[in-house]
Amino acid sequence: MKQNHFAAIRNAILTSMILVPLIPFILALGTGYYYFTTSLESSTIASMKRIVEDHRQMIESFLEERKHDLDFILHSYTFEDLSQPEKLDTVFDHLQRGSQAFVDLGVFNAAGVHVAYHGPYRLIGKVYKDANWFKEVMQHGYYISDIFLGYRQVPHFIIAVTKEEAGKKWVARTTIDTVTFNNIVKGIRIGKTGEAYILNAGGILQTEPRSGGKLMDKDPHNIEYPSSNSSVETFIYKDVNGEKYLYTTTWLQNKKWLLVVRQERADAFRALISAAYLILLITVIGVAVIAAVAFYFTNRIVGRMQKMDVEKDRLNQQLIGTSRLAELGEMSAGFAHEINNPLQIIKNEQSLIEMNLSELKEAGQLQPSESLTELEDSMDQIKLQISRCAAITQAILKFSRQEEPKSQDIDLRSFISEITGMVAQKAVVHGISIEQDIAENTYPIHADPTQLQQVLLNLFNNAMDAILDQHGTSGGKLIIKAAPKENKTVEILVKDNGCGISPEDLTKIFSPFFTTKPVGKGTGLGLSVCYGIIGNIHGTMKADSEKGAGTTFILRLPAAV
Ligand code: ADP
Repeated sequence: MKQNHFAAIRNAILTSMILVPLIPFILALGTGYYYFTTSLESSTIASMKRIVEDHRQMIESFLEERKHDLDFILHSYTFEDLSQPEKLDTVFDHLQRGSQAFVDLGVFNAAGVHVAYHGPYRLIGKVYKDANWFKEVMQHGYYISDIFLGYRQVPHFIIAVTKEEAGKKWVARTTIDTVTFNNIVKGIRIGKTGEAYILNAGGILQTEPRSGGKLMDKDPHNIEYPSSNSSVETFIYKDVNGEKYLYTTTWLQNKKWLLVVRQERADAFRALISAAYLILLITVIGVAVIAAVAFYFTNRIVGRMQKMDVEKDRLNQQLIGTSRLAELGEMSAGFAHEINNPLQIIKNEQSLIEMNLSELKEAGQLQPSESLTELEDSMDQIKLQISRCAAITQAILKFSRQEEPKSQDIDLRSFISEITGMVAQKAVVHGISIEQDIAENTYPIHADPTQLQQVLLNLFNNAMDAILDQHGTSGGKLIIKAAPKENKTVEILVKDNGCGISPEDLTKIFSPFFTTKPVGKGTGLGLSVCYGIIGNIHGTMKADSEKGAGTTFILRLPAAV
């Protein structure tokens, strides 16, 4: 029953000790984690966008520069000039000196006939009137193509520009080296898995992704296209293997091409994932620490409570014992009183017999004889025992009388002798010798004799118990000393050669209810009451002891003034 009660208390304490710190801990950690990860996520995405924006500008300016190169030539030379192969060769050399990306250079008349060409293919004379690029450039004056195969059946893309001369348009066209362009686009480095490539509006690869895919193939990742009016956009997309990727896209060339940068999500958000692991670790450690502390303290608290409960039961037991003792005290007082009356009568009768005997002796009616002497001895013995009984009943009455303390000057020499007399018989029975050493010049002290008697009797009884414990009924020694000390004080020592007190117990002996004696024998109240009495008369009381060797109680009392 009690065990269940303690188990319930234990569970309640444990639950609240775990929950109370755990809830704010988790809340604080969760909020921190949320804000930290959101800001880290947005800063990762922002930096990704910045990288893509820079890359876009680089690609755009590469193409823009090539177009300017071509424009420059167109405005520096006439159609006539460039139609001459030697001239075209020289101009191409100049062009290539500016950028290795130029593969060839061709000149076309308004009918789309290839009139001059410098480059690795044989394209002179070919007619491009119906080619899409030719129509576009004639219409808009400038054109950058997607990658296409053309007559040469090799993937390439071209930049073409028109010029009007004397009312007639002509076209200059150059092919851009796909390897160079590819390298420019590919040459972006983001984390371990970041890569960049370009798609045209139809989802056809314009450069090769590092992770695989050939020029002019369909986008192997088949992403959804962002709306055509967005600038830089990011989104998470799963590839065919279920792997998640962070995509960042932006339009190029007036929305003709789409620059795609993609990176494995785990790679892009590596810092985020590390933070998540760290938080998880902190949570696990935090929870473990909270639980361990809660377990430890709960066990301690419940242990204490159980101990206190046992102590409470013991105190209750002792209280019952003590009240029984008090009742016994009262009973013995009544008993002593009752005995006293018949004792007085016996005493009177004994005196009468004694008186009659001596009268008879004087009248010569009783001859001295052995029997008479025995009779007289018996009379003496009866008288002696009567006065002993009277002394005992007096002592009991004196002890149990509950009165206001009545202080008076006490001469320790006679007072201590009286008390040792009270325990002398018990000492003899237990083989204990009592040594008494009261200095002649000892000051009288001012106290209630009944209370001081109680103190000394208690000390003597304790000493005799300890002696019995250590020596049995022979070899015991009890010494009582009193002597004047400095500052008008008197020191009383009660010294025994009993079992002694362990240093641990020595700190507790003056506490109420501390006892090492078996239940029913000790109450643990004696010394605490003595301590109170001595304190009331402004004295001090302490004990010196050595386990197994003996104990000395030292009282310091102020002298009567
Ligand atoms: P009680 O005698 O009822 O146990 P006390 O308050 O008089 O209560 O004493 C408390 C405890 O102090 C005793 O149980 C005993 O262990 C210890 N003690 C007191 N006097 C002595 C002594 N002279 N020698 C050894 N132990 C002592």
